[in-house]
Amino acid sequence: MDELLLSARGLTKRFGGLAAVNGVSVTLHRGRIHAVIGPNGAGKSTLTNLLSGDLPPTAGSVTLGSTDVTGWTPERISRQGLGRSYQKTNIFMPLTVHENVRLAAQSREPQQPWNPLRWLSDTRADAIKNRAIGTRLESAIELSGLINRRMTIAGTLSHGEQRQLEIAMTLATEPAVLLLDEPLAGMGVAEAQRMVELLHRIKPAHAIMLVEHDMDAVFALADQLTVMVNGEVIAHGAPADVRSNAAVQAAYLGEDH
Ligand code: ADP
Ligand code: MG
Repeated sequence: MDELLLSARGLTKRFGGLAAVNGVSVTLHRGRIHAVIGPNGAGKSTLTNLLSGDLPPTAGSVTLGSTDVTGWTPERISRQGLGRSYQKTNIFMPLTVHENVRLAAQSREPQQPWNPLRWLSDTRADAIKNRAIGTRLESAIELSGLINRRMTIAGTLSHGEQRQLEIAMTLATEPAVLLLDEPLAGMGVAEAQRMVELLHRIKPAHAIMLVEHDMDAVFALADQLTVMVNGEVIAHGAPADVRSNAAVQAAYLGEDH
């Protein structure tokens, strides 16, 4: 049994009279990809925002590891081990790939009010810290497939490579849980294929929620599949079972996206 890293129960988010997410429960396990699909406006991004703390839920709870993180700020949830990519990019375009990932790796260093190592030696403390940052940096660049682009200015990367860089920056914060909102959006066939390979590489060590419209990618990657329509889960299970579900066919899969 894979380790349960995130569990959300009965999540609801109301915007005025609209229930954008209505009583949704989700579990994420290490080594598994849980894909969430559904038409535009189904509530997929809102669900992502509820899990990451970017939006407080109207009802329901989110447990990360064994900690109830409901109502926590996104920063605190991130330090607790949850990483997410945003649809709007966080990349610093004038900086190189290496510099961008380094900044992300540095942001992970705990800011302690009192650091006992300081009393031993500032130099030694810095060396230990820099080693930790360096390890996270190298691992993130390697996993993202951007080793050959390390010294390239981010603004000159292709769209697909920028999305790879975004994931590298998220990985550099060493999350156990990753929430990816449409990582293949706007990609051509070759770029999408590279992203699928990237997701395969990072899957074993992480619990991943993948919101995605690209059905080929979803069926290539997902271990669990949840279908949302109008804020509610209309089907959930193994991808092959969900695919043959008549309600899902009618609501979503039959359409050409
Ligand atoms: P999806 O990601 O599945 O396309 P969203 O989660 O973005 O869907 O949106 C779900 C519904 O909630 C939509 O009807 C959308 O208009 C509404 N919605 C999303 N965010 C807000 C917000 N901040 N304020 C009001 N309504 C919102
Ligand atoms: Mg969305």
